[in-house]
Amino acid sequence: MRAVLLGPPGAGKGTQAARLSERFGVPAISTGDIFRANVKGGTPLGRRAQEYMNAGALVPDEVTNAMVRARLEEDDAAAGFLLDGYPRNPEQAVELDSMLGDLGVALDVAIELTADVDEVTARLLKRAEIEGRADDTEPVIRKRLEVYATSTAPLTAFYAGRGLLVQVDGLGDIDEVTARLVAAVAR
Ligand code: AMP
Repeated sequence: MRAVLLGPPGAGKGTQAARLSERFGVPAISTGDIFRANVKGGTPLGRRAQEYMNAGALVPDEVTNAMVRARLEEDDAAAGFLLDGYPRNPEQAVELDSMLGDLGVALDVAIELTADVDEVTARLLKRAEIEGRADDTEPVIRKRLEVYATSTAPLTAFYAGRGLLVQVDGLGDIDEVTARLVAAVAR
């Protein structure tokens, strides 16, 4: 399986990506997690990404694309992968095509995990209490939702146009959502 997982912040992408990764035996590659690990480790990449993340903005494409390219070239991604949080804008989607072309492979599916704005905002505020993520404050959540609507949401039309899009309702019980995702991917 070579898949991208789309959906607004707070839709449950991280949780579901981990489950799909296990189910299909492919690595879940979360650009947000890679950035957070680099911020925590104080690496040059982390120092570069941090200010954008704290503001709820996208890290510049050249930084993000290079990081994803290197990750997809690792051995464990050769037989498949699930990208969580990438691509995030049309330029990254085009760059992903180029990376996959260079690797001689192609995407099988783009999964959009749908969820309404009020619901995801409530989830993110709750997550802020539990995980204490620096970007889970109300003004930053608002900004991240805005970035999603403006930059990321158009990707659904991009992938739909190529016959790759499947939409899955992200609301409800976690196990039920996983079952919906598995069914959608196996279609
Ligand atoms: P996430 O964990 O996917 O919500 O990502 C957290 C933050 O990391 C985002 O708000 C961005 O600042 C940054 N980030 C993650 N993925 C990307 C991406 N594909 N392009 C640019 N920035 C990203």
